[in-house]
Amino acid sequence: MTDRSFDTGPIRPPSEANSLLLQVTQGCTWNKCRFCVVYRGQGFRMLQPEHIRRNIDNMAYFRDLIYSCADSDGRVDREKLIPHLEEMNARERQCFYIIYNWVGHGARNVFLQDGNSIALKPEKLADVLFYLREKFPTVERVTTYGRASTLARYSVGQLKLLRESGLNRVHTGFESGSDQVLAMINKGLTQEQQIEAGRKTVEAGIELSVYFMPGIGGRRYSQENADETAYVVNQIQPDFVRLRTFILKLESEMYEMKRRGEFEECTDIEKLGEIRRLIAGIDASETRIVSDHIVNLIGTLSGRIGTDKEAMLAQADEVLSLPVTEQRIYQNFRRHGLVDNYLQMKTQVSPQQFEHMRQYAEGFESDEDWEDYMNEILRQYV
Ligand code: SF4
Repeated sequence: MTDRSFDTGPIRPPSEANSLLLQVTQGCTWNKCRFCVVYRGQGFRMLQPEHIRRNIDNMAYFRDLIYSCADSDGRVDREKLIPHLEEMNARERQCFYIIYNWVGHGARNVFLQDGNSIALKPEKLADVLFYLREKFPTVERVTTYGRASTLARYSVGQLKLLRESGLNRVHTGFESGSDQVLAMINKGLTQEQQIEAGRKTVEAGIELSVYFMPGIGGRRYSQENADETAYVVNQIQPDFVRLRTFILKLESEMYEMKRRGEFEECTDIEKLGEIRRLIAGIDASETRIVSDHIVNLIGTLSGRIGTDKEAMLAQADEVLSLPVTEQRIYQNFRRHGLVDNYLQMKTQVSPQQFEHMRQYAEGFESDEDWEDYMNEILRQYV
């Protein structure tokens, strides 16, 4: 009997939470960033075109099965589905429910995995995109991760081919625009490559989403991390700058650097200061700042530079200018996922909850203990 299962990799951006994940590569071509443990111990592999096509066929099979069991209002008749589910093995059933949920969310977006799918030669990736669009003609957006070092190697013509084949957006982890920070974290990239990659991608008409990690340079490079990233952003004018506050993972090489005294972590508040500095330094009016991860201290710090810059800076200043205890109360509410910003804390939290958090925040013996506590919570999110 034909196996209808398909492959799925481990990561995707939060903005692709409702996207169908189509694996075209496995692992990461670089896999040496000192802060990253996602693909540790795994090699990189490009999936063969026939393997990818089979995965797409299986996804389309489940989509068609769901539609064939739906009534005229689009509601799926469980009774019709059950005999099909009974015939599936456990893995097929898991894949079926992935498609079921995706169809339930409108079947709009597809994300190509894994860590650097753009490494698949543009001509081959274009074939995959054509096939995907043929099988799923109603899909609105197809996106992928792409390392800047890979993007910089391609010509604008090759990137345009990808755009014309149906690739709408590339997510790329710059983390920092500073060459010193990039070298320290062993990102395998330079500022020059970032700018070249970014400009080519934008010129090819592909939306560009770059990631910035406040705090990744530690205290030593804190200002430089923000300033040099702002410089890179201004040179490229990407569509999005996504904030991904740095969290030191215990299994990472950077944690060993900290133990050896080679890396001094920024505090949670200092990382917010970097975000403020970055936003203040960006003058690319169409670029949008996006805070779409719980690791960011202000969840609503998002907007278009041209129209929302002052409002974003004001949100950051509101927290940065608080007395320490009030900052900690806010941090605690935010880090437990109870509020997105300071205003919400002031308007939605009961006096009893506030008092409870105040007592808790004042109960730490040292600033170091407080930061350890914050990091402990944050590590659960990454
Ligand atoms: S390029 Fe991305 S996936 Fe690869 S090691 Fe670095 S952070 Fe991890």
